[in-house]
Amino acid sequence: MSRNLLKDAFNRGDNYLSMIDERRVFPDVQALSALAGFDEPLSQKGDDPANILRMLDELGAPATVASAGSRYFGFVVGGSLPVTVGANWIATAWDQVASSAVTSPVADKIEKVTSGWLLDVLDLPRHSAVGFVTGATMATFTALAAARHKLLKRQGWNVEENGLFGAPEIKVIVSEEVHVSALKALSMLGLGKDRVIRIPTDANGVMDISHLPELDGSTIICTQAGNVNSGDFDPIGEICEKAKVSGAWVHVDGAFGLWARASKSRAYLAKGAEKADSWATDGHKWLNTPYDCGVVICRDVEALYNSMSVSASYLREIETAAQNFMPEFSKRARGIEIWAALKFLGRDGVDDLISGCCDLAIYFSEGLERLGLTVLNDVVVNQIVVCWDSAEKTENLMQAVQQEGTCWFGPTVWKGHNAFRLSVSSWKISKGDIDLSLQAIGNAMKSLEK
Ligand SMILES: *Cc1c(COP(=O)(O)O)cnc(C)c1O
Repeated sequence: MSRNLLKDAFNRGDNYLSMIDERRVFPDVQALSALAGFDEPLSQKGDDPANILRMLDELGAPATVASAGSRYFGFVVGGSLPVTVGANWIATAWDQVASSAVTSPVADKIEKVTSGWLLDVLDLPRHSAVGFVTGATMATFTALAAARHKLLKRQGWNVEENGLFGAPEIKVIVSEEVHVSALKALSMLGLGKDRVIRIPTDANGVMDISHLPELDGSTIICTQAGNVNSGDFDPIGEICEKAKVSGAWVHVDGAFGLWARASKSRAYLAKGAEKADSWATDGHKWLNTPYDCGVVICRDVEALYNSMSVSASYLREIETAAQNFMPEFSKRARGIEIWAALKFLGRDGVDDLISGCCDLAIYFSEGLERLGLTVLNDVVVNQIVVCWDSAEKTENLMQAVQQEGTCWFGPTVWKGHNAFRLSVSSWKISKGDIDLSLQAIGNAMKSLEK
């Protein structure tokens, strides 16, 4: 019974993925209104499992966004590599608590191996601590908790024991282009998102370090490897040089952009990032693993351990338990998907994936300009920011393309211009998909100009 059930689930998932490029990228009105079928009271006696999967597939699947397909350019979203979906299915069947070797020897082993591979492929200090968290938001949260620990300990303050009331001040520097998730992390840590010092940026969103204030041993600087709009990089190496003398902590938000370090042709963009103190990145964006797959990396193992570790009479596991390097207590074995991606791709495959997306982004941006649109950013990696002649025409064009269904991308505001943003982040995207998308965009322009 349960075997048939899981085979049914497998078939439904497999059918979904094999047909994904035949359908609209964003669901139509009909599929959305059918979601009302989920509005039912909690039953008293439960339901038949086969019926539950059928309902999920029949009502749910049509109302998904085809971000796993080959013409989704919204946000910064990659499609999962098939081997990572398979690894996810197996690991889900295992149902492991991946918090320590006591709860899951296999998850513990694979995540340790994966930690080494990540430091290797991203070329970061090999003795750093690695934690598998839900996403880059939690990775930045975790890294900044380690920073908070270290900087306050230096002043004789134990923040884990005593909290922040009465603690010495920590100065936080961000760029005016800081990702909202870093501000969220700062707010959750009691460091505040409004008391930060914001450094101006250049036309491509890169921090202008001539505006950096005096740094000292109680300063945290949040840098970016991969601006969420333009894709560009702060001069992290230079910032680290300045920070090193004073003892300031440099954090790198590299949710997707840190992967440029794995691309021979694009690694120069994130050069010097290895000198930072902590890094946040995602598997679920550019490495094309399923959600949720974030990674925190911290040079100072002890700082991360001291900010995250737990002890209880029933916990006797060794100090290297995953639990001691992440905010979560119980967690799924998410590192297995990163392992599967890296094992499948190898060093060359990761390079091809990242470099390939960057090359396609250039191809896409050239096509957009040929249509008469304006590309507002310097396309250094996989991100393109585009506008038409006016804010109104830009918005109407984006809506028309979304409506038509061949591809999907969303709005942004870049340096005061209303624009839309395209991200090329999936292994599935080919030149042919970009040609089809350009055709759809061109057709929408023609119909709007009539
Ligand atoms: C997506 C993104 C984040 C947040 O990552 P999540 O995995 O969604 O938590 C942070 N910073 C940048 C630059 C991003 O692109």
